[in-house]
Amino acid sequence: MIGIGVDIGGTFVKLFVMNEHGEIFRKEKMDTDYSRGAKGFIAQIGDFINAIQQEFPDQRVAVAVGAPGDVDNQRGILRYNPNLKFKDVEDWPLAEMLKKHTGVMPCVANDATLAAWGVYEADLKRQGTNVLVVTLGTGVGGGLILNKELYQGSNGTAGEIGHTKIADIATGPLCGCGARGCLESFVGTIGIKRRVMEAVFDNPSSELAKLVNAEKDFKVELVSRAAERGCKSALKVWEDTGYYLGIGIANFTLVLDMDTVVLTGGVSGAAKFFMPALKRVLEHQQIQTPFKRLKILVSQNPNIGGVGAAMYAIYRAQKDQTLCK
Ligand SMILES: [Zn+2]
Repeated sequence: MIGIGVDIGGTFVKLFVMNEHGEIFRKEKMDTDYSRGAKGFIAQIGDFINAIQQEFPDQRVAVAVGAPGDVDNQRGILRYNPNLKFKDVEDWPLAEMLKKHTGVMPCVANDATLAAWGVYEADLKRQGTNVLVVTLGTGVGGGLILNKELYQGSNGTAGEIGHTKIADIATGPLCGCGARGCLESFVGTIGIKRRVMEAVFDNPSSELAKLVNAEKDFKVELVSRAAERGCKSALKVWEDTGYYLGIGIANFTLVLDMDTVVLTGGVSGAAKFFMPALKRVLEHQQIQTPFKRLKILVSQNPNIGGVGAAMYAIYRAQKDQTLCK
């Protein structure tokens, strides 16, 4: 069995070809080509799938596509895609379009959801029964494995942890989604940057201020570099990040009683700075039972979206299921 995982992003598309033993045969990174519209873009992915089918004529080829935004996993439709700038398609019938081109009905799901499966299968080796995967970056996404199965909810949108609220929705900080008080507005890159700018204003002679002022573009790595050098302002930014993330994870734990939380994405690289504050929030919860054995792990694999899609394609096909229902 061959699994093709397609990870569609606003800038790049990553494609992974794997077998059921987890071996990667091919990985490819293409620019997200807007010049020929959505149909041309789908045809480009379809051509890749067709080439793999020709390369492995004796093998069954299964395909899964992770797409950003709001995905109808039942019908394989990408409903809302703020990160993709195609103008010629409103709701993309992604699964149908690809099936027409390749003969294979792919499973289409939210990209963070398939990345969560990648973490579960590739990193955790399916250890753990109920797992929350939190992707920390510009956006804060998530995916859920419940009872050892990928959980996508009633509409395919489960795991939108970034837009759960941890502050007043009228006065809290503005989130990229347009709402106020979202977890993402505190622990996403933009939220971190906001606290960094406040810290730079309050302490213009700090190491953090020096590093930030010397660079044209803000990068989260600068905060870690300053923290590494013992800068109190930078350490405080990470401490506050851990505090807010802890509130979000505590809320999810009280609802779901998971056994494992995995933090992934670029910002999780700073876990050593924010983890103590995060754990303190969990230790201070009144109801302690779900927190006592909760494991919090960090996993950093930049390819986990594509790998997770390929692995989920195989997992579904082994059960004779195609769409990501
Ligand atoms: Zn939001």
